[in-house]
Amino acid sequence: MQAVQLVAHGRPGQFRVVGVPDPAPRPDEVVVRVRACGLNRLDLWLEEGALPIPLELPRTPGSEIAGEVETCGDGVTDWRPGDRVAIQSNLFCGRCEFCVSGDESLCIEGVLLGVQRDGGFAERVVVPASSLVKLPDQVSYVASAALTLAGSTAMHMLTNRTAIHAGQWVLVIGSASGVGSSAIQIARQSGAQVIATGSSEAKRSLALQLGAHHAIDSTNPQWTLDVRRITGKRGVDLVVEHVGGQVIEQAFACLARGGTIVTCGATAGREVTLNLWPFFVKQQRLVGSYGRSRADVIQTLEWARSDRLRPVIDEVVPLLETPRAFAKLRQRSVLGKIVIQP
Ligand SMILES: [Zn+2]
Repeated sequence: MQAVQLVAHGRPGQFRVVGVPDPAPRPDEVVVRVRACGLNRLDLWLEEGALPIPLELPRTPGSEIAGEVETCGDGVTDWRPGDRVAIQSNLFCGRCEFCVSGDESLCIEGVLLGVQRDGGFAERVVVPASSLVKLPDQVSYVASAALTLAGSTAMHMLTNRTAIHAGQWVLVIGSASGVGSSAIQIARQSGAQVIATGSSEAKRSLALQLGAHHAIDSTNPQWTLDVRRITGKRGVDLVVEHVGGQVIEQAFACLARGGTIVTCGATAGREVTLNLWPFFVKQQRLVGSYGRSRADVIQTLEWARSDRLRPVIDEVVPLLETPRAFAKLRQRSVLGKIVIQP
């Protein structure tokens, strides 16, 4: 089969398209024929070698996979060849205290598919059967591959790590990203008043189309004042943040008393300073969010099936052009998701 392999880290990294033997399932594993696989910032971090975990090359990236079961290993009884599936890419042990309680995203033996083992930028991928989620017939492979990781990340942030109540103010950072575009829709449909940031007119226009009530220009150094003005100086109840660095500090400038910042990324920097006085006086919360559990993926696909959550797709790219897709995502001109199609 054909697979895209990262063979050297860098900006850009070095890729090759190679023919490799078809994978075979071990007990409790399945081989999935990949029909679509979304491209994410996680893939860029792998490309750059910028993840704080041991990385081995060559590696086939790709973690947001939709396809159909092709072969089942011994002991797999819940799935059959031909089943349409999405894959929960935070692979989990199923035995630790967190997995047993259903919080797979906290698994102490978690493995990132497409980072620590070969992922979906290939014609086939082999995964534990426990990572599969049924893909509803009404949701296309491309739509699934544009939502399973980014959309479920937002779902985990907004329905698992925090909660939204109707009428609350929610600020979504980075409206055109996979996480941002999903978070706007989830927040709006939960009854929130949604403010979104975007660095271009096209991104702000997208935010409004997705349901944001207000879209503000994040290239304006004073953009946090816009949030204060829109909310009548009060600030927002919840900030959905995935950029890190200085943006976290700016998010605090937008936060109401008793408000919460939920964050799942640090593209702009992992080290931040925090002024503890206003933090505890205003009784605010900073909540970490990592990945997702199968329950979040199932909920995301159910929202997609009932048309409450729509993927925003920038481009569908053939497998052979995967390196070009990496370069395009790095340029930050992408509106929504790039999906690779083997
Ligand atoms: Zn576990």
